[in-house]
Amino acid sequence: MGTVGAVAVDSEGVVACATSTGGMLNKMEGRVGDTPCIGCGGYADNNSGAVSTTGHGEAIMKVVLARLILFYMEQGQSAEAASDSALVYMKSRVDGLGGVVTVDPQGNWAARFSSRQMAWAAAQKDTLHYGLYTGEHFTQSIDEPH
Ligand code: ASP
Repeated sequence: MGTVGAVAVDSEGVVACATSTGGMLNKMEGRVGDTPCIGCGGYADNNSGAVSTTGHGEAIMKVVLARLILFYMEQGQSAEAASDSALVYMKSRVDGLGGVVTVDPQGNWAARFSSRQMAWAAAQKDTLHYGLYTGEHFTQSIDEPH
């Protein structure tokens, strides 16, 4: 169980996404969720950014969540605004909850979720950002001894 998702951008603005999941609790045998479906569990395009998603796969597939976020970014929204817009849309349109990590080719990133919690972390320059519950955003130096 549990989903692990990642997005990344290199110094040349090349983006990538990856998503792995155990699926949903009590899933039907043979169920294929959103995770392996392009545009749902993830999408990456150097022209707009990369997204990895988690949450209720049936809802995610109905709104094609990862691609929807990049569509909003193509229309001018930031990674954070686009992530929030798409999650609000998924809640109102199909009553689905989820979470996403998003990055644009300039390295602007977002970790946003409509579920109660989502463990997330981001490494940018020499700072580690992380959180679990809504509104949490901790930082520490990556070089800091533990
Ligand atoms: N999205 C996955 C699924 O529906 C579940 C998850 O995010 O863990 O299969």
